[in-house]
Amino acid sequence: MGTYNKILVAVDLSPESRLVVSRAREFARLYGASLTLIHVVEPLVYMEDYQLKPALPLETEKNLEKQAHAFLDSLAVDVGPGDAERIVRIGATKREILDYAKDNNFDLIVTGAHGRHGIASMLGSTANALLHGTHCDILCIRVGK
Ligand code: AMP
Repeated sequence: MGTYNKILVAVDLSPESRLVVSRAREFARLYGASLTLIHVVEPLVYMEDYQLKPALPLETEKNLEKQAHAFLDSLAVDVGPGDAERIVRIGATKREILDYAKDNNFDLIVTGAHGRHGIASMLGSTANALLHGTHCDILCIRVGK
């Protein structure tokens, strides 16, 4: 058994996800670890009178969840091991990933250094947030130029 047994890879559904997952897969092979792909759908809400209200019908959230599952399925088939576990959660991205990793005893989280919220050559907000809250090792994959 290697240093890492359970690897969790954070997938934001951007085209760069393929690179992030393929690096994570290399690590999984190297250490004989299992690989789990996770995507978080952020709830679509807005504030009104200090109350959070759904911005769009629940159906839209369900559609996003379905699309995320389809994306993870195709990534697992094309890049990751076909039998990689796929998880879609709804909530705040950082909290969901960190909680899932801790509750399920992952020992490595793999993330893109920056994605849709990041600026090239800087650490994106999600990677930065994960780095500051993680209970386990974290590997940031440099993506883009
Ligand atoms: P960003 O904060 O957009 O720069 O994203 C940096 C990295 O965080 C991405 O490459 C993904 O690995 C991860 N990430 C961002 N958003 C999500 C999400 N909604 N679900 C899962 N992982 C995410």
